[in-house]
Amino acid sequence: MIPPPFEYLRPKTIREAIVFLQQYGDEAKILSGGQSLIPMMKFRLARPSYLIDINRIPGLSYIREEGGYLKIGGLTREAELENSPLIHSKYPIILDTARVIADPQVRNMATLAGNLAHGDPANDHPATMLALKAEVVATGSQGERMLPIESFFVTLFTTELQHDEIVSEIRIPVPPPHSGGAYLKLERKVGDFATAGVAAEVTLNGKGVCQQVGIGLTNVGATPVKARKAEESLRGTKLDEANIARAAQLAADEAEPSSDLRGPADYKRGLVKELTRRALARAYERASR
Ligand SMILES: Cc1cc2nc3c(=O)[nH]c(=O)nc-3n(C[C@H](O)[C@H](O)[C@H](O)COP(=O)(O)OP(=O)(O)OC[C@H]3O[C@@H](n4cnc5c(N)ncnc54)[C@H](O)[C@@H]3O)c2cc1C
Repeated sequence: MIPPPFEYLRPKTIREAIVFLQQYGDEAKILSGGQSLIPMMKFRLARPSYLIDINRIPGLSYIREEGGYLKIGGLTREAELENSPLIHSKYPIILDTARVIADPQVRNMATLAGNLAHGDPANDHPATMLALKAEVVATGSQGERMLPIESFFVTLFTTELQHDEIVSEIRIPVPPPHSGGAYLKLERKVGDFATAGVAAEVTLNGKGVCQQVGIGLTNVGATPVKARKAEESLRGTKLDEANIARAAQLAADEAEPSSDLRGPADYKRGLVKELTRRALARAYERASR
């Protein structure tokens, strides 16, 4: 339960943090909320020799709309998302997600950027960011790169981030009028990781026909899953019961769960089907308000 020894570094700027990352290479790790990294170090699943604590870098914690994007800073905590009036009024899908992560103590520290950078398919935000077509802003020695969330997750615990890059911001296109989204998760007990989770975001035209749709799945594959076939089946259709049921079946077919302590693979596939149906119905209802 005690992590191996490490050097603790506390840069005051992103530039300084990047220089440390370059200097110490694979032996160094960024520390933000510490809610995934510290437990891994205690179990000795991670053994960084250098911890680069970015918590003292100013100006990285914000939630604002600007230039057609919702911009969330790289040090923004779950608790800040949960308490943001902007998130409450315009992004209920993000509120749905932040609220079901762990417990208030974890949420006071954990960051959205860390949740994505960790590359854990059991984390909840990746599915929601897939549904919202987010971009990850990675800052490194060469400046900023925009990484579309669709290709961000490479495999288990591995993302497109280079070793000397820091997630400095997450950008989400501001949804057009008549948009709505929802995130639903089944957990064994409050605060647990998902047995399965589904995020759905839809945009309707004036006649209630689906123009845009995003569907992301949690903990049913080596990476978070974008349910592309389910999305395709809904574009240009009315979100009635039959079309939603067909999309839910396609999402279940696209899931690749494995059997584990949270249940057999078939059960999880069934869950994806039902959660997709419910998430789409709630997204439709929110988009229709
Ligand atoms: C008891 C418990 C229950 C939990 N339950 C859930 C849950 O139900 N759902 C869920 O989604 N999560 C859950 N978590 C995980 C939690 O949300 C994590 O905090 C989050 O996944 C990682 O964010 P962090 O800021 O704590 O990152 P850290 O733990 O500090 O870092 C995690 C990894 O990401 C890297 N990293 C962090 N920030 C950056 C950055 N800005 N740029 C580049 N790399 C970075 C680190 O180097 C490290 O490799 C739980 C955690 C605990 C302790």
